[in-house]
Amino acid sequence: MPGRMQVIPMETEKFYTLPPLPYGNGELAPAISEEQLRLHHDKHHNAYVVGANGILERLDAARKNGTDLDMKATLKELSFHVGGHILHSLFWGNLAPAGKGGGGTPTGALDAAITAEFGSFERFKKEFSMAASGVEGSGWGALALCRKTGRLVVMQIEKHNVNVYPGFAILLVLDVWEHAYYLDYKNDRATFVEKFWTIVNWDEVSRRLEAAVPA
Ligand code: MN
Repeated sequence: MPGRMQVIPMETEKFYTLPPLPYGNGELAPAISEEQLRLHHDKHHNAYVVGANGILERLDAARKNGTDLDMKATLKELSFHVGGHILHSLFWGNLAPAGKGGGGTPTGALDAAITAEFGSFERFKKEFSMAASGVEGSGWGALALCRKTGRLVVMQIEKHNVNVYPGFAILLVLDVWEHAYYLDYKNDRATFVEKFWTIVNWDEVSRRLEAAVPA
C-alpha cells in the first residue's frame, strides 16, 4: 500500500491546520484587544479549519462507501470554510504590532505599484476603507494583483468566498465580520477599519507582491 509508506502523516498533509499567530494575543492592542484577538483566532478561525476538514472527511467517507452527497450544499459549504481559513491565515500574516512592523506606509515596489494604480497611497487607503466599511453583512476588504494585467484591484469579498476573482494574488486583507471587532468597537465598523491601518505589516504585503510577480 503506497499510502502506508508516507513519511508525513495524512492528518498534516491532507487536512488544514490552524496556524499559530505570529505575535502575542495582546500585541495588537489597542487596535485589536487581547480578548478579541484570542476569540477571533482560537474560536472563529479554528471553526473554519474544523468545518473544512469535516467536509473533506465526509467526501472521503462517501467516496469510500460509495454513497452520494448533496453536491451543491457540500461544495458551497466547503468553499465557505476553505475561504474562511485561507483569508484568516492571510489576515494574521498581514498584521503586526503598531510601531514594531505594523503601521506606516508601503515602500519600494509596493509603494510604486499602489501609486501607479491609484494615483496616491491616500487614494488607495480611501478606496480600500470604503470597500471594507461598505461590505453588506459579513465579509472582507482585500487588495489583490491581477497577474494578466499587472494591475492592483480592491476586492469587496462577501462572506469568505463571494466576489473573489479567480487566480488573482491576494496581497492584503481586512476582516470586517462583526466577530472581528464587536468586543472592541461594538457596531462601529468604520473605526475598526481606521485602526486597522496602524497594524498593517507592509513588509509582508511587499513579500506577497514580490512572490506574485514572476521575476
Ligand atoms: Mn474572522
